Amino acid sequence: MYPPRSEKNKHEKKQRQQRQNKVWMIINLMLIVAVCLVGLYVYYNSDNNAASDLGQPQAESSNAAGGSEAPSAESSASSAGTASEDSQQAAPSAAGSEADAPAASLQQGGAGNAAAASADGTANASAGAEGNQSGSQGDAASASPEDAGGSLVLHFGGDTLFSGKVADKLGTEGYDFPFQYVSSLFQQDDLTVLNLETPVTDGGVGAADKQYVFKSSPKALEAMAAAGVDAVNLANNHTLDQGEEGLLDTLDHLKSAGIASVGAGSDDDQAYAPYYVEKKGIKIALFGFSRVLPKSDWAAGAGHPGIASVYDPSRAYAAVKAARQKADVVIVVTHWGKERVQQYDDTQQSLAHGLIDAGADLVIGGHPHVLQGLEQYKGKWIAYSTGNFIFTRSSAAKTWETALFEVRCTKTGSCSMKLVPYDAELAQPVPMDAAAGAKLLQEIQSLSPGVTVDKAGNAAAAANP
Ligand SMILES: [Zn+2]
Repeated sequence: MYPPRSEKNKHEKKQRQQRQNKVWMIINLMLIVAVCLVGLYVYYNSDNNAASDLGQPQAESSNAAGGSEAPSAESSASSAGTASEDSQQAAPSAAGSEADAPAASLQQGGAGNAAAASADGTANASAGAEGNQSGSQGDAASASPEDAGGSLVLHFGGDTLFSGKVADKLGTEGYDFPFQYVSSLFQQDDLTVLNLETPVTDGGVGAADKQYVFKSSPKALEAMAAAGVDAVNLANNHTLDQGEEGLLDTLDHLKSAGIASVGAGSDDDQAYAPYYVEKKGIKIALFGFSRVLPKSDWAAGAGHPGIASVYDPSRAYAAVKAARQKADVVIVVTHWGKERVQQYDDTQQSLAHGLIDAGADLVIGGHPHVLQGLEQYKGKWIAYSTGNFIFTRSSAAKTWETALFEVRCTKTGSCSMKLVPYDAELAQPVPMDAAAGAKLLQEIQSLSPGVTVDKAGNAAAAANP
């Protein structure tokens, strides 16, 4: 009954063959599944990276819009006891003529300092490369490519006060109200500088023969520091509105609040001294100078509190030249020009060029209450007027237009320039809507010979003179 032996062998052989085939099939299937799994893993991972790369700029650009991240409301401080003169709330009007009062200037153009001016006469490369990213890159935290190269993000805003109608507004809205749309930028950048166009004091005596006399409560400074403002310029035509006592109080209150100040001091040495600060291994020197003083005795002197004047710029040039040897980036904030005039003038230009010849990498001007043009000289940016920032609202519509000046600087002192348009509402800069912002940027370009300003606000020099 049994099959013959040869038959049996044949049958066993066939079964063995079938078993082997099955094993091979299983191995192959497993290999295919493994390859698929590896492929899926690689694909999923790379996709994930791409997504997170995208995520960063998106998050950042929402910062630029600035809306959402208003600082938490600090319980509103009581409205400041500002002087009665402040009820002249309208923005300082054509006090321009008084401005040029202090005379005696040795009109010396940046004498023989050209050697100190950096060697790079080339347009800075950073402008274009970094241009498209709006707002403040969360540079403190994230190590984006340009941070790896070690560039600093700096913000400059225009005239700031907490007096008159601004004080009234802050009395109801709280002292952090002015910074609602800018604090997220200021807190993340490396340096924020405003022009403080007012004494900050509870005392002082209002200047007698002056059309607009300002006085701001020290309570405003805590919110300003919390909002990320690091330094203020005091070289302007209001710092002594409450006399020398008002200036000395201002210096004290700023110091207590942890805000650095430049451009004024208890004597000339302090007034002309730069504020040195180092960020990410890059050393900055910041100066403040004014060519707008209501009276000549507002200028600081030996043992005489006051302001760093540049009616005669020789001392300022010498100070800048000295700082050039110690700092990587030398920045000068200047107060100059004619109020409500949008075109910068020859006096501003020769002073700006003199400062750059002396070694400045960046010149940021103010006082006209309107924006003025930009210029690049020897590869260095000059912003002639930053306009109003935290201010009262006059009837002149041009004074309502302003910008935040966003600057990136490298350790070699090469800086880019970008304008972010804002509306200077009463006591609060508010991001400008896109259409109005585009129009404003075009207007700035038309005021800036040899300079282009793109839709994102990035300035570039057509060619260097
Ligand atoms: Zn001014």
